[in-house]
Amino acid sequence: AAMRHLPYFCRGKVVKGFGRGSKELGIPTANFSEQVVESFPSDISTGIYYGWACVGNGDVHKMVLSIGWNPFYKNTKKSVETHIIHTFKEDFYGEILSILIVGYIRPEKNFDSLETLISAIQEDIEEAKRQLDLPEHLKLKDNNFFHLPEGKIMNHH
Ligand code: ADP
Ligand code: MG
Repeated sequence: AAMRHLPYFCRGKVVKGFGRGSKELGIPTANFSEQVVESFPSDISTGIYYGWACVGNGDVHKMVLSIGWNPFYKNTKKSVETHIIHTFKEDFYGEILSILIVGYIRPEKNFDSLETLISAIQEDIEEAKRQLDLPEHLKLKDNNFFHLPEGKIMNHH
């Protein structure tokens, strides 16, 4: 069921999140605005996904993505946060992030400690890297979506 909407293409501005300190954990997540999140299929499963991402007209990188319940709205709205598997020299708030969601890793979970949370995310990152190296997933990195001007967004599903 989680795979029904995949692959999923999405483009939008990076906004300030709710400062849960992802960056301090070494795992910054670029948040999409509420408006972009609302444009997602309402029945898309929460959880952890993997795919490809690019900032502005930059290079395409591997990413892990979390679709979760947004605590700011008392868990009635979703949040969509992308961790790009690349080290950036600077933050990119306000820039256009393009993502292509390719596959699903696992549902959302609660963790007893920060250590178990961090190690789960590190495993997600390793799983994403492995999956995205498979030829069928690697080929999506060159999708025209990443080279099209803004506004020409299509969803294939
Ligand atoms: P916020 O709560 O504002 O989302 P985070 O701690 O999650 O703060 O940090 C996210 C910000 O870090 C992004 O909006 C982006 O500007 C920056 N950033 C730097 N490197 C990355 C990366 N590899 N992946 C995602 N965001 C990154
Ligand atoms: Mg964030």
